[in-house]
Amino acid sequence: MCAIVGIYGNENAARLASVALFAMQHRGQEAAGISSSSDGKIRLIKDRGLVSEVFTEEALSVLKGDMAIGHNRYSTAGTDSVLDAQPLIAKYKLGEMAVVHNGNLINKDEVRQDLIDQGSIFRTGMDTENLTHLIARSKKECLQERIIEALEPIKGAYCFIFQSRTKQFIVRDKYGVRPLSIGKIKSGGYIVASETCSFDLVDAEFVRDVKPGEMVILTKDGIESVQLFEPDFRPCAFEYVYLARPDSEINGKNVYRTRENMGKALAKNDTNSGVKADMVIPVPDSGVPAALGYAAQCGVPFEYGIIRNHYVGRTFIEPSQEIRDLKVRMKLSPMKSLIEGKSLFVIDDSIVRGTTSKRIVRMLKNAGAKEVHFRVASPEIKFPCFYGIDTPTKEELISSRMTKDELCEYIGADSLEFLSLDDLTSSIGSEFNYAVESFNGDYFIK
Ligand code: 5GP
Ligand code: MG
Repeated sequence: MCAIVGIYGNENAARLASVALFAMQHRGQEAAGISSSSDGKIRLIKDRGLVSEVFTEEALSVLKGDMAIGHNRYSTAGTDSVLDAQPLIAKYKLGEMAVVHNGNLINKDEVRQDLIDQGSIFRTGMDTENLTHLIARSKKECLQERIIEALEPIKGAYCFIFQSRTKQFIVRDKYGVRPLSIGKIKSGGYIVASETCSFDLVDAEFVRDVKPGEMVILTKDGIESVQLFEPDFRPCAFEYVYLARPDSEINGKNVYRTRENMGKALAKNDTNSGVKADMVIPVPDSGVPAALGYAAQCGVPFEYGIIRNHYVGRTFIEPSQEIRDLKVRMKLSPMKSLIEGKSLFVIDDSIVRGTTSKRIVRMLKNAGAKEVHFRVASPEIKFPCFYGIDTPTKEELISSRMTKDELCEYIGADSLEFLSLDDLTSSIGSEFNYAVESFNGDYFIK
């Protein structure tokens, strides 16, 4: 999971791109990059670190031009070399271009091997580089046709923004797994971004989403659109559960509302289990909207029983168990006076590895909680995602190894409930056929 942005036709393009990336920092904290284009020159600055660390005034002053594309990289198990940061710049016969990518190309290894067999030399570990080689090898006359040809062998969940010296080409895969929206900037030009929460900061008005299978072309003459592939819309349900910021509208749905609905649905089924508790406590921040919905539905008071320290930065690289434990303690603290002797509903958005939830239960019990009833506002995650989230392997996914009862015992909770898959999809809205392979193993991109 990453964030991408394109700014077109605004003299402050790089600055606006950096502000948009800042609003989407939650989608990736490992590296940030922006490439601008002006006077036939493509300029690039990218580095490991947060947007605010990489894009100093000095860096921004280098990135001249009225068009820019940017990227936030999410830390994955693979390399954390700056070589794997984006944008990726490539030269080809017609000139130079830059590209940013959010998603995952599932047949990347085959395509890469094919290209290597033909003599391509790869400089990075990124699947995105497949595209730049395919574009460079194309015999077509213009970049647009080269991109279209390069996309032919590519399978997966992707959003791309390609930038030439004068244009931007924006592509969303036919399933529309990852979000991508277009906005009009009041001070001039357009923004295309993974999440609409970035539009407010650059003072842009939402225009529309990029359609599944569509290529949008931004030129001096305005917006063009070509439908490249027959759409088969499968928006990712996990964007609503965890990935996106609550104030974003993803595929026309406000993320906060969908999370609140998930909490309500979770509570509706819970009333049957007969568990009573004194208060509803969210695991901040991602569990908050669902906990509000849960509390509203069951009539139990909502309390901030866990305080989050917002100055805890990125996850430590290669952390030891000791440091990871310390990190959870640094990040989350129990409100002892509030929870002592009380029974709690504790709401989180998801359980992935089960390590955080185990520590939270232990922390609350150590602080004197009488009972901890853990409630999860998504179904059990049993299958790895290959469509752009980089969830852990099947072995690391705790729900693929343990039943609900075993997991309840493992995390030390007094009871444990998950949202059902039906409740998840109806909480988001029943008109779409969502991508839910993490929950049911339905890998629809073969
Ligand atoms: P666990 O109990 O599985 O160790 O951790 C669950 C917590 O991780 C939840 O609070 C959830 O918000 C968070 N989470 C879920 N998916 C991701 C992810 O892809 N990356 C990170 N950093 N956290 C995640
Ligand atoms: Mg969380």
